[in-house]
Amino acid sequence: MGKIELLTRETIDKIAAGEVVERPKSVVKELVENAIDAGATAITIEIKEGGISLIRITDNGSGIKKSDVPIAFLRHSTSKIKTAEDLLSVSSLGFRGEALSSISAIARVELITKTYDDLTGTRYLIEGSKEISNTEIGAPDGTTFIVKDIFFNTPARRKFLKSPTTEGNYITDVVEKLALSHPNISFKFINNNKIKLHTSGNSNIKDLVYQIYGREIANSLIEVDVETELFKVHGFLGKPIITRGNRNYENYFINGRYIKSSLLSKSIEDGYKNYLMQHQYPFTLLYFDFKGSMIDVNVHPTKMELRFSHNEEIYSQLYDIVYAKLSNRELIPRVPIDE
Ligand code: ADP
Ligand code: MG
Repeated sequence: MGKIELLTRETIDKIAAGEVVERPKSVVKELVENAIDAGATAITIEIKEGGISLIRITDNGSGIKKSDVPIAFLRHSTSKIKTAEDLLSVSSLGFRGEALSSISAIARVELITKTYDDLTGTRYLIEGSKEISNTEIGAPDGTTFIVKDIFFNTPARRKFLKSPTTEGNYITDVVEKLALSHPNISFKFINNNKIKLHTSGNSNIKDLVYQIYGREIANSLIEVDVETELFKVHGFLGKPIITRGNRNYENYFINGRYIKSSLLSKSIEDGYKNYLMQHQYPFTLLYFDFKGSMIDVNVHPTKMELRFSHNEEIYSQLYDIVYAKLSNRELIPRVPIDE
């Protein structure tokens, strides 16, 4: 064995990047989440060749202060939490401070940013964790990230990328979920110079369904707006006539985050059971607001899986909501019976 030595920043960041940046869609997700956390009301996502050659994300959010720019690219640097206790009340989508360091470790990154208070903006170039330049420029308030040549310095990982079309489809999926999770933000998605999605940001969820899923689904929705002692939920359940052969049309959002949850899926699918054939899944678009500290978001780096407390109560309450909606009955609290 050789001498024990500390790894360089480039190597540490490259290794860590593997956790955060799996493919171009991960870059889009992280950068758009940052834009959302920065309070943007309009976000433009532009990609070329499935995001492999270019991803450009522009927002009109808070911008980054000139003096903070180089720090933002360091590992574990974040403006969103200060201590572990803050995790209990974290409301931002990010908080690990790993995205910018990871992305800049495996791609060529250009950042143009300006805060409302600064008179001029900053243009910062960083490639493979190495700062290339840091200059002052005129810029509108907000932030633009341009990410080029993903995995240019990790050929082994670049080899695992799929075709530009497939990578582009993954990104489309991510953008749609982000747009659905924030109906109050206007999203524009441009793929190879074509506008693929442009949402208004007017908070009308039905409009979003129409734009993303089309008229058939938009015309077959049952509205949900219910509060129990554990959670509030609003959104739509698809009528049983618009079922699909997989779970891709089940959408669950918690605190502005698109999530997957076997608990939520199971409760809702069971509520549909009498109405669906085997191996058919419903269309759902449900926004949850859980009361108290019933969820732990700090489970996985990509933060898509959540842990709940009160699993059984959540199951039966959700089941009841779906069952009542589909059978067109008023929601009557269930009287426990011997099962
Ligand atoms: P995290 O989101 O977990 O804080 P990131 O590495 O994604 O970590 O970002 C680091 C920091 O850079 C953020 O905490 C934020 O202060 C700043 N930042 C990143 N993107 C933007 C943006 N689009 N607008 C304003 N600030 C941003
Ligand atoms: Mg982030």
